[in-house]
Amino acid sequence: MKHIVTIDEIENSDNKTLNYTFDDMIEGIDSEGTITSKLEIKSLGEFIEVSGNVKGILNLECDLCLNKFKYNLEFDIDEMFAKYALQDEYGKETELKDGQFMTDLNGTNEIDIYDLLYQSVILNLPNRKVCGINCNRDNFFVEEEISDSRMDVFKNIQIQPKSK
Ligand SMILES: [Zn+2]
Repeated sequence: MKHIVTIDEIENSDNKTLNYTFDDMIEGIDSEGTITSKLEIKSLGEFIEVSGNVKGILNLECDLCLNKFKYNLEFDIDEMFAKYALQDEYGKETELKDGQFMTDLNGTNEIDIYDLLYQSVILNLPNRKVCGINCNRDNFFVEEEISDSRMDVFKNIQIQPKSK
């Protein structure tokens, strides 16, 4: 399902501010029910500011015990879009302040809310997914071993004693 807002819609809204309610599943994100978001999309002349909150219940897998658990996702977003191409020195995405990015619309006249929310949810996933304080992980496991599964490959390498 498409969730697109055009620059014209924003410019033609009262106070150049459009309120957008998102209530939908997002492909690639395993959620219990829909992801909901109330956004205020405001034209600031050359820039468009999208702010609001995002909520949803995600089905995540615990890094430690591998059990599925429900994660209450809730965060705020505050994103800036440049209507016109930013100068090359800024690059395609420029960080304005901590966590706020300026995205170049590069001449397109619309903002893809669906894509914005997908990216935002991915960025706001916890780094360390733990099902809870009562996680029933096997106590014999050492956390470091589990958290870096890329090391698994080394477990199968046998170190041969040097032949004399
Ligand atoms: Zn767990």
